[in-house]
Amino acid sequence: MPLALEYPFDIKVFCQTFELAHDEVFYALKILEQNGNLSFSEGFFQPTRLQFIVSNEVLYNFQIQHEDYYQLCTTLVRSYPGIFEQLTHLHEDKLIQRLKLSEKRLYEQLEFMQKNGIIELTKKNNLPILYFNMERLPESYLQLKPAIYLERKQSAQTKLDAMQHYCLQATCRAQQLITYFGQTSDTCGQCDVCQPRTLNESALFDFLREARSIEELERQFFCANTALETMIRPHLLTEKIKFKAGKFYL
Ligand SMILES: [Zn+2]
Repeated sequence: MPLALEYPFDIKVFCQTFELAHDEVFYALKILEQNGNLSFSEGFFQPTRLQFIVSNEVLYNFQIQHEDYYQLCTTLVRSYPGIFEQLTHLHEDKLIQRLKLSEKRLYEQLEFMQKNGIIELTKKNNLPILYFNMERLPESYLQLKPAIYLERKQSAQTKLDAMQHYCLQATCRAQQLITYFGQTSDTCGQCDVCQPRTLNESALFDFLREARSIEELERQFFCANTALETMIRPHLLTEKIKFKAGKFYL
């Protein structure tokens, strides 16, 4: 019978442990998901779940060897029918009340039983869940369908082209977006295309509220260095504009 292989997956810890880059891991998972090897759900709350994975007899022997576990084991078996057959949601609060244990002690006991192979335990968490949809194949057997790469590349290229087109078109930005959604509109009068950033003193002082390099000024005002210098020079003399470490500022 195939085992349901699902794990809470803390991508941050995983990347730290194996010294991998977060983005690479995330996109690798997405590719494996598209390839059908696994599914990766967003994080949502998962309660603690538990299953006894030994026979009654083994459990009985364990209780004899560890007397202080007797109460916990019996309470679990009595409170949760089916706990030998499948992972069962626990209600920790009720257990803590009934057993008069601290939460810390309850988890210590559960973890001890897990270490001894008595139970399977998934502690409550908010982590994404990783499901293995098929048997975990050795790396050399793992084949990625070429279509998955090509489709991703094509889709990324289409997005890039569209963005490039949007930026380079000398058409009102708002109008371009509205046209994309199949409607028409007048120009907005507000965007960078509608309002060319012509160089004037008020715009210059406004922009220099933060320290700026000459390159930033050129980009902002679409103008040549000389025009900027002509405007800035008198203000440098009166120290209304200052220049330090390659930047102009007020
Ligand atoms: Zn516009």
